[in-house]
This record gives sequence, C-alpha cells and structure tokens, in this order.
Amino acid sequence: MPAHLFRAARWSRRAQHVVMALGPPVATILITGIVSLLALAVTHAALTLAGGGDRWLATAAALLCAALITPPMAWPLLHLLCALEAARAQLDVLATRDELTGLYNRRQFLVLADREWSRCRRYDMAAALLMIDVDLFKRVNDEHGHLAGDLMLREIARAAGDTLRQPDLLGRFGGEEFVVFLPHADPLGAIDAAERIRERVARLCFEWKGQAVRATVSIGVATFDLTHDSLAALIQDADMALYAAKDAGRNCVRAVPPQAREHGASDAVVSP
Ligand code: GH3
Ligand code: MG
Ligand code: MG
Repeated sequence: MPAHLFRAARWSRRAQHVVMALGPPVATILITGIVSLLALAVTHAALTLAGGGDRWLATAAALLCAALITPPMAWPLLHLLCALEAARAQLDVLATRDELTGLYNRRQFLVLADREWSRCRRYDMAAALLMIDVDLFKRVNDEHGHLAGDLMLREIARAAGDTLRQPDLLGRFGGEEFVVFLPHADPLGAIDAAERIRERVARLCFEWKGQAVRATVSIGVATFDLTHDSLAALIQDADMALYAAKDAGRNCVRAVPPQAREHGASDAVVSP
C-alpha cells in the first residue's frame, strides 16, 4: 500500500476511535463547532478581500448556516460509522474466538502461533507446544448430558488459562482438544507448564443435577528444535506425544524430546 494511503488509513482509524469514544451526540456537537469556526473564518476572509460589509450580519449568517446544515448531515453519518465499527468488532470476535470457551479458535491460534514460531526460529529461541485432550469426555456427555460437558470444557479452558503466562497462546483446537504455544519455554519448562494444567484440571469439580462432575486431561508436549521446519511439524510431534499419554493410561503428560523425530515415532516419547 502506498505510504500516503497508509497514513490516511491510520488517521481515519484514529478519527473513528475518537468518534467511538465520544459517541455520536458529542461528536456531532464537536463537528458542528469546527464547521462553524471554519464558516466564520471563510466569511471574514471573504469580507476582508471584498473590502467591506456588515461583519455582524455575516457572522450570524455563517453560524446559522453551519448550525442548521451540519447536524442533520453529521448525525446519520456518525451513527452509521459507530454501527459499522460495532459490527466489525463483533465479526472480529466471531472470526477469531471460540464461541463456547472464549479462547482463540483453531484458525486464529494457528495464525498467532505461526507468527511466534517464525520469530523463535529466526532468533533461535526456545519454544514448545502442548496438545491437550480431555480424557473419556464422551462418558462425561453420556453420564451428565451435553450441557454439563459444555460447562466442563469452559472450566477446563479457564483452568488452563489461569496457569499460563502472558505471552503463552491458548486455543481450542477442536471438540475436546486444546492447544498451547509456549514461547521461550525449554523442555523442562514446557513439561512443568503441562503438569500444572493437568493437576489443575484433575482438581476441577462442579455439581450438576446433584452429581459431581470431574474430568482429567492427557497432554502431549513437543519442544521446538531446528528439525521442525514448520509449526505443523511441532503440532505433529505434540500429537504423537499425546497418543503416548493416552496409551500410558490417561491423566498424564508425555513429551517428545528434541531431535527425537529423527529416530522414529515409537521410541521417541518420554515420560516427564
Ligand atoms: P479419549 O480419552 O480417548 O480422548 O476419549 P474421548 O471420549 O474423550 O474421545 P472421543 O473422541 O471418543 O469423544 C470426544 C467427545 O467430545 C465426543 C464429543 O461429543 C465430545 N465433544 C466434542 N465437542 C464438544 C462440545 O463442544 N461440547 C460437548 N459437550 N461435547 C463435545
Ligand atoms: Mg479428542
Ligand atoms: Mg478425549
């Protein structure tokens, strides 16, 4: 995009923010004031150039015109602008957030994690990915109903989010699967983060129609190394570790150590 268009777009967004902050009524008054001042300045300049005329009458006419013409034009436009901005913000949430848990949806998680992953790769920084799957979740739905299952998913999302640091990315990957990208996390730090999530979820309990509802999660951990040529490769490793956690009896964490992929899948996964 040419620089002047980019600058214009930036200024227009700033103006939009000011209008949103003030609200249409105050913004209309402000714009009417500005237009009135401009009308006064133009009228006085015209009278000066023409070399005479009744300044009081001209001032009154300029103010009257500005006050009568500006509000009916500015008010609907500002209203439309605010409605469009609210709709845009709503669309933004719908496009990037998971409706049930409020976490990033899969698409947005992948966009943000890919950006972080590229940075870690460029600067040779540590990073890790956790793949979390709720254990025997079908049973929770079958025993307590889907609404209880939904509540459990929301509780798990909240519990996982509470254990993470500010730069960590948490998303809902699909049904009862969550995913975490941990920038700057070394293998031990990543396993530690996964264990914190696992323990926190195992302690979760809420009552639903007189019955206690509990759940556990299995977590696969993959730590970034230079053999990972894409985020997808890291996700694949975390998935492999997750399968190992399920095989090990669930409610546990399993990890793929760096360079393990080169040695084949079967012996690549280790217990923390
Ligand atoms: P495993 O330990 O092997 O992962 O067993 P599981 O029962 O968790 O796995 P399975 O894939 O058989 O079942 C996943 C269940 O998750 C089935 C599906 O109905 C449920 N599920 C997926 N998304 C939602 C959701 O948004 N709300 C609810 N309540 N359930 C969901
Ligand atoms: Mg699953
Ligand atoms: Mg499951």
